[in-house]
Amino acid sequence: MLEIKNLHVKLEEEDKQILKGVNLSVEAGKVHAIMGPNGSGKSTLSYVLSGRDGYEVTEGSATLEGTDLLELEPEERAAAGLFLAFQYPVEIPGVGNMTFLRTAVNAQRKARGQDEMSAADFLKEVRARAKDLKIDAEMLKRPVNVGFSGGEKKRNEILQMAMLEPRMCILDETDSGLDVDAMKLVSDGVNALRSEGRGFLVITHYQRLLDHIQPDVVHIMANGQIIKTGGPELALEVEKNGYADILNEVA
Ligand code: ADP
Ligand code: MG
Ligand code: MG
Repeated sequence: MLEIKNLHVKLEEEDKQILKGVNLSVEAGKVHAIMGPNGSGKSTLSYVLSGRDGYEVTEGSATLEGTDLLELEPEERAAAGLFLAFQYPVEIPGVGNMTFLRTAVNAQRKARGQDEMSAADFLKEVRARAKDLKIDAEMLKRPVNVGFSGGEKKRNEILQMAMLEPRMCILDETDSGLDVDAMKLVSDGVNALRSEGRGFLVITHYQRLLDHIQPDVVHIMANGQIIKTGGPELALEVEKNGYADILNEVA
């Protein structure tokens, strides 16, 4: 589903290479996790896949179901089925959450050649999905993420993800800043979306998220490369011993 080959990325502003040959392949129906020390390039990978400005791909490729992602505008990537939940969800003053969701869903449907969802169907669906995530009616009316707590923002991201029904979901440190209850809600929301036709890439510092969202494959990223790949046991090893052993082993 998501195929990343030999991806090299540098900053546009300065001559600093951040990703140094990332290879990663996420199959439909699978959850892959990426762990790794701070500054290893995990967020950069998610930004580059989403099409954020400021990065230059100097080598390599990234495709989603065979489509070259790097050639597409950010909104085209979303239409192609890519969804990213960011570590720091943006606030959009002046735009109501419900209006934002409806616009995004209909843009997505249009790109897929589907009719707009009726107002009644949309309302029914958004209320059902919001209820599962304990997002109340008042939060749906407020401007997107404005004044939301950290946990509310993350839950709102999962609501967006649920409504958009993406093919490939990337979550960058969705667990950071969450209390235990919010983490459970977010994890349950993600697990509810797991399906045979959908792939997940979950970036996290901590094993505890992976207790809730059990990955099929775990990758360790360091210094701009994936240096080790294994099963869920690899995350447990990191939790127990830190990254030092793995870094030494590879060196
Ligand atoms: P991670 O998410 O794994 O903690 P990041 O992708 O955020 O790592 O960062 C990777 C490296 O790239 C770090 O050394 C970081 O300081 C650097 N970096 C990323 N973006 C920028 C930027 N815009 N300007 C300067 N350095 C950056
Ligand atoms: Mg970081
Ligand atoms: Mg990061």
